[in-house]
Amino acid sequence: MLSLTVLGSGSSGNCAVIRTERTCLLVDAGLSARRITQRLEQVGLSVGQLDGILLTHEHGDHTAGLEVLCRKHEVPLFCTPLTQETLMSGFEKAKPRWRLMQTGAAFQFQDLRIECFPVPHDAVDPVGFLIQDEDSRLGVLSDVGFITNLIRDRLKGVHTLFMEANYDGPLLEADTKRPWATKQRISGRHGHLSNEQAAELVQHLAHEHLQHVILGHLSEDCNCPNVAKQKITAALHSAGVTSAQVHCANRHEPLPWLEVARRANAALAATVVVPSPEVAPAVEALEQALSPAPAPTPVPIPSPPVQVREEEDSGYQVMEQLGLWSSMRAAG
Ligand SMILES: [Zn+2]
Ligand SMILES: [Zn+2]
Repeated sequence: MLSLTVLGSGSSGNCAVIRTERTCLLVDAGLSARRITQRLEQVGLSVGQLDGILLTHEHGDHTAGLEVLCRKHEVPLFCTPLTQETLMSGFEKAKPRWRLMQTGAAFQFQDLRIECFPVPHDAVDPVGFLIQDEDSRLGVLSDVGFITNLIRDRLKGVHTLFMEANYDGPLLEADTKRPWATKQRISGRHGHLSNEQAAELVQHLAHEHLQHVILGHLSEDCNCPNVAKQKITAALHSAGVTSAQVHCANRHEPLPWLEVARRANAALAATVVVPSPEVAPAVEALEQALSPAPAPTPVPIPSPPVQVREEEDSGYQVMEQLGLWSSMRAAG
């Protein structure tokens, strides 16, 4: 079962954790290494338990803790080649274990299938993630200037969506602290998502098995958790979905662990071990009613991505095929 928590999120730093029984990954490391260590402990984990760090892009509010974390711990860093190139100069004392992902491609890492897809933002090669285990689909989307068709397509059918809701349109407009140019950058096509844009995407993606929408990267001055939650909840309701929960991650404390998809048959399996012949048809009908919708057909990976064989830790194979692994090792 795939679970998620957000250790901290906001314009000053972003860091989340996903885990299954077998795998534990950080998504971005934009808090200080000390804070990441503390907050991991708060959610029952240690840095030593991390199997890797997935990076959305190189901006400091997503990578500030990386160098110090990598000095002390050998944590593999998953990012695209361009993001790695940008980050390399910041690693003076650490020798990170790079694991390069090809934008638009998917790879298998332990019990997770991870796909990264391009998003519009003012970074060298920013990506979003679709992360799946055998019964859950999680979408991760931060930071993004506007919602593209590709984003809508890749996130179709997710059971949980962790996405940016950076600013509220009217609150950003009314803000007197930021100069006009900064406001333009934030709201531009390579800036950040507003509550309104987030709501539109949520309305598009809403379905009966959507469990959680977690909003992150909220601006302290130009957004308000209650306003953001209200707009996303209204979007869900207008799509006819009332069961999904909306959460706001914040910069001060971790969220509780959230299960990406509800284990629909677990309670049933626990209570009905051997159905008698009389109840068997009813149980079958109930099981069918409770089964999650079939996952959408996997989307073909657009060319020219590298074909990744579905083998354990095939991130290595991505690098081997690109001829990058040896050059990375040479470069340290
Ligand atoms: Zn950014
Ligand atoms: Zn950011």
